[in-house]
Amino acid sequence: MTKLRLAIVGAGPAGIYAADILLKAERSFDVSIDLFEQLPAPYGLVRYGVAPDHPRIKGIITALREVLDRGDIRLFGNVTYGRDITLDDLKKHYNAVIFSTGAVHDADLDIPGIDLHGSYGAADFVSWFDGHPDVPRTWPLEAASVAVIGNGNVALDVSRILAKHADDLLPTEIPDNVYEILKASPVTDVHVFGRRGPAQVKFTPLELRELGELNDVDMILYDEDFDYDEQSKAAVASNKQVMVIDRVLQQWRQREVGQASRRLHLHFYAKPLEVVSDGDGNVAAYRYERTAPDGEGGVRGTGEIREVPVQAIYRAVGYFGSPLDGIPFDKEHGVIPNHEGQVLRSGDNERMYGVYATGWIKRGPVGLIGHTKSDAMETIKHVINDQGNWWAPTDPSEQAIVDLLEARDVEYTNLDGWHNLDQHELALGEARGRTRIKVVPRDEMVRASNQLAAPVAD
Ligand SMILES: Cc1cc2nc3c(=O)[nH]c(=O)nc-3n(C[C@H](O)[C@H](O)[C@H](O)COP(=O)(O)OP(=O)(O)OC[C@H]3O[C@@H](n4cnc5c(N)ncnc54)[C@H](O)[C@@H]3O)c2cc1C
Repeated sequence: MTKLRLAIVGAGPAGIYAADILLKAERSFDVSIDLFEQLPAPYGLVRYGVAPDHPRIKGIITALREVLDRGDIRLFGNVTYGRDITLDDLKKHYNAVIFSTGAVHDADLDIPGIDLHGSYGAADFVSWFDGHPDVPRTWPLEAASVAVIGNGNVALDVSRILAKHADDLLPTEIPDNVYEILKASPVTDVHVFGRRGPAQVKFTPLELRELGELNDVDMILYDEDFDYDEQSKAAVASNKQVMVIDRVLQQWRQREVGQASRRLHLHFYAKPLEVVSDGDGNVAAYRYERTAPDGEGGVRGTGEIREVPVQAIYRAVGYFGSPLDGIPFDKEHGVIPNHEGQVLRSGDNERMYGVYATGWIKRGPVGLIGHTKSDAMETIKHVINDQGNWWAPTDPSEQAIVDLLEARDVEYTNLDGWHNLDQHELALGEARGRTRIKVVPRDEMVRASNQLAAPVAD
């Protein structure tokens, strides 16, 4: 029987679902899959994006883990496409490749002052509090007043982590360094700014509701934002999600405030204009233009300029994919150009045979983990139907890629290694009465994977 040797690059949910769907699909050929991941641990943004105080979502890892534990997918962790392996290597050893490399960087926000000291991207902050090995271990949480720009779920995650008392995060898997720095944070006010009104937000009711449950944090809303236009009234009346969001916000407007030591302000109708400097290159204020509904579901500027004094700014205006060596890239949208997951060449838009994409790098950084499953189904359908167009590798043996990585001295980890690291993190947590403590430095992760981790102290 013909065998498809398939490489998948990126072991986030999109890559793992794609492997699972292909293995379970009806097909007339055998399959052997190698999954390459640049980090020593799998699961992508489920491990390094989803907030630590969302254990139910983090629990999706259990389902992804069950797929890997079946044993019919080989995992090569700590292997970066473009550095440790190239497109030519893949063509030599596989019939096809699926890129599922996601999106890890912040989209730009092009306003004056965005590069000042104290202005940060949400993605970097998320990577820090989720213990990503490739970001600095310290974070300058020195501001009493902070602005968060954006009205999606990431903006709410960032605001919640900034406003929440560190001790309330102790039951989660946050790394020790993150706890210590959050504990020392002098923050009193977190201001969240959205360009449009409460009926046009992008966040979901569940994420919003959580903010109102934070211990010792008052929710502050402003009456001027709730004078709904006809469009907003229609949205509240006809869309269940908007209706719930409105109900939550209206309840908060009735609450007594003034007792809590921290406040989380929601500002709507605020268009970003400038991050204002203190004259020494530090953030001193956030300047915005008040907007108003334009009658067509959007907003227009009113010309009224306002300023809120803050010492730090986080832009949560979206994630953006990164280009991959030898693979076409759409610079405007931060994705690999494709038709239903079949990668298209730059210039003539013709198929690049043997190359596929799935997940956020295919579709852009929107949607929940569940969406990556339907995405993978579409891509896999084409992989299966494309048999006549696969590459013809010169050495498709399973040993060849192992030999290649070893010849290049790549310190790769495998599925057993991940189990070791996982056990090690659980043991670190257990010793301290917590569920897990994440290992952050990459070399320690690799050491723990290869069973050379220091023993857990009593
Ligand atoms: C802050 C944040 C919070 C979120 N919270 C939720 C939530 O609560 N619920 C929910 O359903 N969804 C949530 N999401 C969305 C969810 O994380 C995404 O839908 C999903 O992770 C996208 O999957 P993916 O596999 O395409 O990308 P990713 O999860 O990003 O996985 C891509 C993988 O590819 C690897 N990779 C990248 N480049 C290379 C390379 N060159 N070589 C090898 N490997 C590479 C990366 O290391 C990564 O492991 C959240 C997203 C963010 C950013």
